[in-house]
Amino acid sequence: MNLDALAPWASDPRRTRGRRLTERPAAPRNEHERDRDRIVHSTAFRRLVYKTQVFINHEGDLFRTRLTHSLEVAQLGRSMARALRLNEDLVEAIALAHDLGHTPFGHAGQDALQACMAEHGGFEHNLQSLRVVDRLEARYAAFDGLNLTFETREGILKHCTRRHAERLVAAEPDGPAQRFLQGGQPSLEAQLVNLADEMAYSSHDVDDGVRSGLITVAQLHEVPLLAQGHAAVLAEHPGLNARRVLHETLRRMLSAQVGDLVASTEAALQAAQGASARPFTADDVRRSSPLVCMSEPWRAQAATLKRFLFRELYRHPRVTHMTALGRTVITELFSAYRDRPAEMPPEFADAADPPRAVADYIAGMTDRFALREHQRLTGRRLFDV
Ligand code: MG
Repeated sequence: MNLDALAPWASDPRRTRGRRLTERPAAPRNEHERDRDRIVHSTAFRRLVYKTQVFINHEGDLFRTRLTHSLEVAQLGRSMARALRLNEDLVEAIALAHDLGHTPFGHAGQDALQACMAEHGGFEHNLQSLRVVDRLEARYAAFDGLNLTFETREGILKHCTRRHAERLVAAEPDGPAQRFLQGGQPSLEAQLVNLADEMAYSSHDVDDGVRSGLITVAQLHEVPLLAQGHAAVLAEHPGLNARRVLHETLRRMLSAQVGDLVASTEAALQAAQGASARPFTADDVRRSSPLVCMSEPWRAQAATLKRFLFRELYRHPRVTHMTALGRTVITELFSAYRDRPAEMPPEFADAADPPRAVADYIAGMTDRFALREHQRLTGRRLFDV
């Protein structure tokens, strides 16, 4: 990435707010490339390949997992960052790390762990992603975690309740939780990853939904955006097989969405620059309203697609059946380790805060490891992997 080509409002790695523990520069890599490399080499990143996105990992080899989802978010994010002259390396680092804190079994796993931890400080996957990169990765001699830059950590901490923010700010007054107390936005790169995440899953969940047979192509016609795209592809390529028609439809939808986001964001940034008496900078972005955006018609289309996916896929009886089993696995694992901490590795068994250590240990598991542990500790086999 050519740093001199960055827009004035981009996050420039030469002006990073730095790492909690200062390190010597690692030329020729810039500080955000270095963050990205640390994330790729982390244990938590490798585990994403065996973690559920929507479908439990063993249901099929072709469905997205959290790893392929994260790669798709990074790809979309990078190409939009390049068009907007933002920091591609920072976008990639945030995208690859954004789901590191996810439990096994997708949102059902998170809900179960949240319920188990209700009396012990709660559990939230965004906070857990930050905890993974700040504390839980154990690879470096001089520090716990990955010692990432402020900007990468700021992007990872996408949401945070006031209660959690107060606790984090007490420990780190200038840290990434401060904005949840004082208001304000994260960098443009972080805002971009949030939207790339939504774009990626709304598109790939349609693909996986159809591939699994839980959604039919006929149902897609309930979503005007897909219906129009589908009809246009069929008109241009009569007789093309259904899978390729669907891929072509989704491909066109994504590239139209990328084009809209780039144009809308460019316009919002030009307006912000126009209203400012001096060059608009990355720090001005943090004091501004959200600037990475889609146009109103696209926002409405994207919302319709999301509602469709909720109704027809995420709440499909086959999905909810599997996720209910996943919830049972997590809940029973939590009780088993609370009662018998010695069943965990020593670094978790001997930790100062036992419920947190159990949550950390379970959150780090892959779907199949969680299932195997559940069977070992309860003697029951809920489903096969
Ligand atoms: Mg995601």
